[in-house]
Amino acid sequence: MNEIKVRGRAKINLSLDVLRRKEDGYHEVKMIMQQIDLYDEILLESRENGILLETNCEFIPNNEGNIAYKAAKLMMDTFHIDKGIQIYIHKNIPVAAGLAGGSTDAAAVMIGLNKLWKIGATKKELMDLSIQLGADVPFCILEGAALAEGIGEKLTSIEGLDQWVVLCKPNISVSTASVYKALDVNHIEKHPETDKILKALENKDVQTVVENLCNVLEPVTEGMHPIVRDIKRKMVAYHALGSLMSGSGPTVFGIYKDYTKAKNAYENLSKVYNQIYLVKTYDGKDGYANE
Ligand code: ATP
Repeated sequence: MNEIKVRGRAKINLSLDVLRRKEDGYHEVKMIMQQIDLYDEILLESRENGILLETNCEFIPNNEGNIAYKAAKLMMDTFHIDKGIQIYIHKNIPVAAGLAGGSTDAAAVMIGLNKLWKIGATKKELMDLSIQLGADVPFCILEGAALAEGIGEKLTSIEGLDQWVVLCKPNISVSTASVYKALDVNHIEKHPETDKILKALENKDVQTVVENLCNVLEPVTEGMHPIVRDIKRKMVAYHALGSLMSGSGPTVFGIYKDYTKAKNAYENLSKVYNQIYLVKTYDGKDGYANE
């Protein structure tokens, strides 16, 4: 085997709670993560030595600044690999959008190289290693849906949603660091009822899940960019069961049971915004390398 193709899927947050700011600057969180079938396509090709990275996306680095490059370097150093790799990233996930686009590319590279180089590391080993790259990377390796605690690395797999999702990324950039910085952890108005959502997911009670979607970062990003609120209103006006901002934003998603309604929302939002997606939630069961 000389090459392998891997999909790196995006995630949305069905809930996002920040419990406290730790002394080391990280935040202790409690959140429900759900992968969706919006993915970057990553082609990994063996070469003699070195790491080369190409991408169709002008907004991400094509050198060691790219988290996918860092993931390849981490695999090489950890497992003492003396071969090289060419990474090609076809980006479909919008950048700096709250959808873990970088983290999922890193996860895909680790999973792909583990196969390509026949390293034989377990999923757990890869997840533990990947935390060095970023708090969301272990979840992207786990796939599907999970409760994430700690700084995001303590993961419990759960049965997620099986619904249509419309995503709308307004044409603004939001830095995750600036949103966390602006959050006053001691004065959060509304915390999500995470355990209630978990119970509802277990019982396949979609209505309770969508009624309780909640993200403590949403008011912060909304304060900076009122367009987030406008898009949420539109999602609901186009018959979403529920709508929320994902991660630190600015992407807003709507959950739809009915494909026709989701398509109608997608088409109407497409008239106003240019980064709109209509996908299904993803349960992580297709396996890693889907060619
Ligand atoms: P999260 O939801 O985990 O906060 P995000 O979706 O908000 O992540 P990313 O798309 O991961 O944000 O991008 C964050 C930053 O990382 C961008 O400034 C981008 O230039 C940089 N970056 C480095 N490598 C990548 C990559 N492979 N894909 C996307 N962004 C990357």
